Amino acid sequence: MRLFITAVLGGLLCLYGNTQPLQGSKVYYGLLHAHTYFSDGSGTPAEAYRMAKTAGLHFFAVTEHNHAEAEAGAKERKDGIMIATNPALYNGNSNQTITRRFKVNGQNRTETVTVSPLIKSASEASEPQFQALYGQEFSTISSSNHVNVLGVREVLTVPNGDFRQLVDALKRSEQATGVRPMLQFNHPDIQKDLFYTGNDPKVTKVMFNDYGIDEGDLGPHFKDLVAALDPYVHLIEILSGPAMGEEVIGNHYYRDANENDYFFYLKQGFHISPSAGQDNHYKTWGTITDARTGILAQSLSEAAVFDAFRRNRTFATEDKNLDLVLLLGDSVMGSSVTIAEETELDFKIRIHDADEPNAKYLVEIFGGDIKPELSTNATNWKQRDALLENKQLTGNGTYSIKNIFATDKPSFYYAKITQQNADGGSNRGWTAPIWVNDGRTTHTTSDTTVGPQYYWTSAASSRVYHLKGCSAISRIKPENLQSGNTPPAGRTQHTCNVSEEEE
Ligand SMILES: [Zn+2]
Ligand SMILES: [Zn+2]
Ligand SMILES: [Zn+2]
Repeated sequence: MRLFITAVLGGLLCLYGNTQPLQGSKVYYGLLHAHTYFSDGSGTPAEAYRMAKTAGLHFFAVTEHNHAEAEAGAKERKDGIMIATNPALYNGNSNQTITRRFKVNGQNRTETVTVSPLIKSASEASEPQFQALYGQEFSTISSSNHVNVLGVREVLTVPNGDFRQLVDALKRSEQATGVRPMLQFNHPDIQKDLFYTGNDPKVTKVMFNDYGIDEGDLGPHFKDLVAALDPYVHLIEILSGPAMGEEVIGNHYYRDANENDYFFYLKQGFHISPSAGQDNHYKTWGTITDARTGILAQSLSEAAVFDAFRRNRTFATEDKNLDLVLLLGDSVMGSSVTIAEETELDFKIRIHDADEPNAKYLVEIFGGDIKPELSTNATNWKQRDALLENKQLTGNGTYSIKNIFATDKPSFYYAKITQQNADGGSNRGWTAPIWVNDGRTTHTTSDTTVGPQYYWTSAASSRVYHLKGCSAISRIKPENLQSGNTPPAGRTQHTCNVSEEEE
């Protein structure tokens, strides 16, 4: 299999990651961070998926805390039910009957209910136009902050904050299932972890440990953290929360958008792109704000959605249907491109908002050289200091952005879009980066990480198998799902709708 193609397009040589044409992809919207009472939230996964689907989302992940401390601060949401203490609620094959003990207005109550386990719920909720995803939110804030782990079928028992052991668990999971798990940096907070100058011992005691940067774990140098985690981490939550909100807000300006964190982790060398997660702890799944993760994907099958994350074909937006794509020449956001020094970069930004076709926009391109640092001596990078070009635009369209030139250093570029609303407010969006001259040669594409080529059900009544990407795979019960790189004997290929979905 050839992972790289070499092309000559002006001064542009050797492309990575853009072997699929943009025309085959569509933009889909979803969210990747939510809780139910299977950890410290409210309601069940089945309710969460139903609400997200009704809200018009195309994909939605329920990501329960993996650890038993999850309910420590859960207040009235505490009910003794957690995947950490009852892993069958995560990956059980059959419905579980549980007794919840909780308080309503100070009164003790119990309730015995039968619920579908999380992975099973995701499979039951998935349809051709809605992909339910499942995952876990690993670790605690004080141990190392949180990461979401998607695509793991066992409840993680790795000690909180131990990213070295987490990587081992991810490798074991990949060996067992053929699917490489995927990470998202949740609610990043470098100001508290690396640059806090106050003397509150609650903060100072837990500095220099986010996402495993602590010495003895995967740090203290960011180049080592990147080497260990970059194969797994693809997303960073630029828009996060409001985790504890109970009321629907709708259009919401995220005052604390994590754009400087995004910039910082790109500077350190991660191949990550923006996401939004509401981190719902109440029944507000997909509804509390209009924030969305946008992806550019070939279809809504689980494999295709994961593929979009792995290729970093994502953006985060405060507007629920803003559609943003950054291009460099013919390379889609998420790509790595090799370009001769001093060549003018041919950036194009595609902006589309179906219900606000004549909106006014400010487009800003930010960028920088990749320069991993020692965490204890890192630079407090600010996105605003990395503005390379900006442009005022009106209306939907694809616009050229000139006057930015390649350097010979490994670098990255992304766009921030601010839509000025008629009411004086604004909605913002951030695209995935395009990397230039980053020498990415070993970061494997989805062709090798999404796993097996063939899928089928173990049910003996079935006489067919499916190609990777067929939407019928999502309807096979997880406990029956089999896969491999050779088709099963005695079965014929289903009329897989892989290509039909690629319009
Ligand atoms: Zn929580
Ligand atoms: Zn969290
Ligand atoms: Zn959370």
